[in-house]
Amino acid sequence: MKQRERRKIELICSIAELSGLFHGEKGTKRFLEKVVKTVSRHMKSEVCSVYLYDEKRKKLNLVSTEGLNRDLTGNLTLSFGEGLVGTTMKEMRTILEADGTLHPRFKSIENSFEENFKAFLAVPIMRGLNRIGVLVLQHSQKGYFDSTDARALEAIAGQLAATLENARLLMDISRKEQEANQPGETESRLFKGKKVVAGVSQGQIFYMDDSHKEGHLSPEDQKLYRDGIDAFREAVKKAECQLLELQEKMNEELSDIASMIFSAHLLMLQDEAFSGQMAKLIEEDNLPPCLAVEQVVNSYVEIFTASDNSRLQEKVQDVRDLGHRILRNLSHKEQQPGNYRNQIIIAGDLLPSELLKLTAQKAEGIVLMGGGASAHISILAKSLAVPLIYLEDEDVLTLPEYTDAILDANQGNLIILPDEETIEHYEKQSRTARELKEMGASVLDQTHTADGTRIFLRAAINLLNDVKAAREIKAEGVGLYRSEFPFLIRSDFPSEEEQYRVYKKVFDGMEEGHPITLRTLDVGGDKILSYMPENQGENPFLGLRAIRFLLQNKKVFVGQLKAMLRAGEGRDLRIMFPLVSSVDDYRAAVRMVKKSMEFLDRDGFSYNKYPKLGMMIELPSAVMLIDQLTAEADFLSIGTNDLVQYLLGVDRTNSSVASFYQGEHPAVLRAVKTVVDGALKNDCAYSICGNLTNEKHMIYFFLGVGVRSITIEPHRLPELQEFISKIDLKKAREDSEKILTFSTVEEVKNYLKEVLPN
Ligand code: PEP
Ligand code: MG
Repeated sequence: MKQRERRKIELICSIAELSGLFHGEKGTKRFLEKVVKTVSRHMKSEVCSVYLYDEKRKKLNLVSTEGLNRDLTGNLTLSFGEGLVGTTMKEMRTILEADGTLHPRFKSIENSFEENFKAFLAVPIMRGLNRIGVLVLQHSQKGYFDSTDARALEAIAGQLAATLENARLLMDISRKEQEANQPGETESRLFKGKKVVAGVSQGQIFYMDDSHKEGHLSPEDQKLYRDGIDAFREAVKKAECQLLELQEKMNEELSDIASMIFSAHLLMLQDEAFSGQMAKLIEEDNLPPCLAVEQVVNSYVEIFTASDNSRLQEKVQDVRDLGHRILRNLSHKEQQPGNYRNQIIIAGDLLPSELLKLTAQKAEGIVLMGGGASAHISILAKSLAVPLIYLEDEDVLTLPEYTDAILDANQGNLIILPDEETIEHYEKQSRTARELKEMGASVLDQTHTADGTRIFLRAAINLLNDVKAAREIKAEGVGLYRSEFPFLIRSDFPSEEEQYRVYKKVFDGMEEGHPITLRTLDVGGDKILSYMPENQGENPFLGLRAIRFLLQNKKVFVGQLKAMLRAGEGRDLRIMFPLVSSVDDYRAAVRMVKKSMEFLDRDGFSYNKYPKLGMMIELPSAVMLIDQLTAEADFLSIGTNDLVQYLLGVDRTNSSVASFYQGEHPAVLRAVKTVVDGALKNDCAYSICGNLTNEKHMIYFFLGVGVRSITIEPHRLPELQEFISKIDLKKAREDSEKILTFSTVEEVKNYLKEVLPN
C-alpha cells in the first residue's frame, strides 16, 4: 500500500501543481512553504526541508522547512560539503541513511529539533550540471525511507529544479534590495508584472512615451550629442539610408504586413516643415541639433495628440520614433545604431503597426504599462517573438532612461540593474532555449498516442514569418491562418492582388499534401481597423465582428475570397469563417464563395474550384446548432479563446476578470464534447484551436473526448508531440467521461492534476 501511494507521488507533485503556486501573487517564500508541505504530505514524511545553493559563496541556505524549527529558515547556512546535506550537494548524489545521526558526516544543528529524526534522505536538486540545492526528508522511525522513496524524491527534485532555480534568483534579488535599503541607481530591483509573450531579453530601458518626464534633455544629456549643422545633416542622411534599408529588409521578410511601413518616417524626414524646421533652428537660432530635434518633435507630438483625427493621433509614435533615430545618429557614442537594439521598450499603449516598427528596429523586449494589451498585440508579439509583459507599478517610470535591465517574460519580471550573477543566470537560460530549438530537429514526422493512434498537429499562423517555423517543425498543415494582420497594420484595405501574394506564400511555404486552412477576416472586437469608422458600440466583442463585418462589407469579403481561391489552386484549401452564429450566417458566407467563383470565372482566372468550407465554433449558439451546422459544413474548428469568452461571459482581454476565464469550467468541457459528438455524427472534420491547446491537461481531456486534430503555435509542437506520445487513449477516454460528470471547476482541476501523464 505504502509503495503504491508513493509511486503516485511522481504524478501528484507535478511541476504544474507546484509552479502554478509560484506564479500566483503569493511570493517566493509562500511557494517554498507550499513545496515542503506538499512533498512531506505526499511522502508521508515528518520533515521536509529545502536548501538552496549560493554558488558565489559556496554555501547552502535553509530556505524552507516543514518539521524542523522554522526560525532557522533564512538563518541556517551550511558550507559546501558540510554535514550530510552539504555532502549531498558537493558530491551531487542521493544520500539515504536508516539512521542519519549515526553517520560520521552527520552534523547536529543546535535548536533544529533534528535529533528527534533518525531516518534521513537527501537528494541534490540539479539543472544539468548546475547545482540548485538539496531536498531533504527526515523521519523519527529508523529505516523509514527505502530506495523507492529515493527515486520518487529524485523525480520530484527534477521536476522542481527549474522553478527552484528561479526562486533562488528572486530571493537573491529581493535580499539585495533589502540590503540596499534604498533601491536606486546602483542596486538591483525587481518589478513584477504579468507575462504576455514568453522569452528573455537583456538591454537598457527606453521610454516610448516620455510625456511623464519633465525637463527633457538636460545640459548634461546634451553633451552626449554632436553639435553643428553638418553633424545634423549627416544624422538625417544616415536616418534616411537606415530607413530605406530597413524598409527593403522588411519587404523581404514580412511582406504580408510590412509593406511601406516606414513610409511615414521617410516622408516626414524629407519634409521641410520637419527636418527643414530643425535645420532652421540650428542655423538661424543657434540651437544645438539635439535641442532642435527635440523641439520640433515635441511640437508635432502636441499637434497630433490634440487632433480629433485618429489617423493623426497614430502618427505621434512615428514622430517620436523618428526623433529617437536622429538623436541616436547624432550621439557621440561610437556605432550607436539608429535602432532599438539592446533596448527594452516601456510603453503605454501600442498599435500593431507600432509594435511591428519597434521589433523591426530590433527592440529586445516590450513592457506595456497599465491594464493590458489587446489580443492582437499579444498575438502579433508572439509571432514576432518579442518578449512582452504588462506592468502596473508606475515606479518603473521614475528610473533613468538607459538603465540596464533584464526582461524575464517567462516569469513576468523586469529586473533593473541586474548583477553579474543574475546576468550569467539568464545567459545560461538563453543558451538552454537555443538548445531546445535545436531539439526541434528530432521531431517525428507524425504524432501518435502511446497506443498508436494518429494525432494531427497543425500550425496556427499569424504572419508569414511563422510559416517557415511551421514547416521546419513538421506541422502537418495549417489549422488556422489568421488573415487579419495584413489588414490591421496597413492604413487601407490590402488589394485582392496583395492578398493573393500573401496567401500564395503560405501555400508555397508549406509542403503539399497537407490541409491549409485560411480564415476569413476576423476584425472587430478588439481588432480595430484604423481606416474603418468606429461604430463598435459599448461592447465591441458583441458588435460587428468577424463574419458579421464581412457580410456587411461584401466587397471586402469577395476580394478576400477571390484571393484565397486563387492562391489555393491545386492544393488542399480550406476556407474557414469565424464567429458563425447560425446556419443562416454559414449559408450567407457560402453564397459569397459561389459569387466569388462566378467573378473569377468571368475574369478568366484559374482557381481552386473545390475548396472545403467550414467555420469556427466560438459561440454558444453554434454549439446549440451543432447538428445542423455539421450537416452542411465540410469541417469545423473549435476556437477555445472565444468559446470560453462567450460561454462564460468573460472578456478575454480584461485582466480584472481573468480568474473567471476558466477552460476547466464544466460548461466549456461539455460544449467541446457536444461539438465533437455532433461532428462525428455528421462525418464533419473537426479540430480545436486557441490558447487552451497550450495546456497539457486540457489536451488530455480533448483527446479523451475524441479530438484528433489540434492547431497550435509551431514552437509548441515538439513538447506536445512528446506529451501526446505518453497518453493512453483508453485511459484518457475513461478519465474524460468521469470529468464530464463533475459539476465544479475545482473537481475538474484536481482530477486532471492526478491523472495527467508526466
Ligand atoms: C479562438 O477564438 O480560439 C481563435 C483561435 O481565434 P482568435 O484568437 O483569433 O479569436
Ligand atoms: Mg476567435
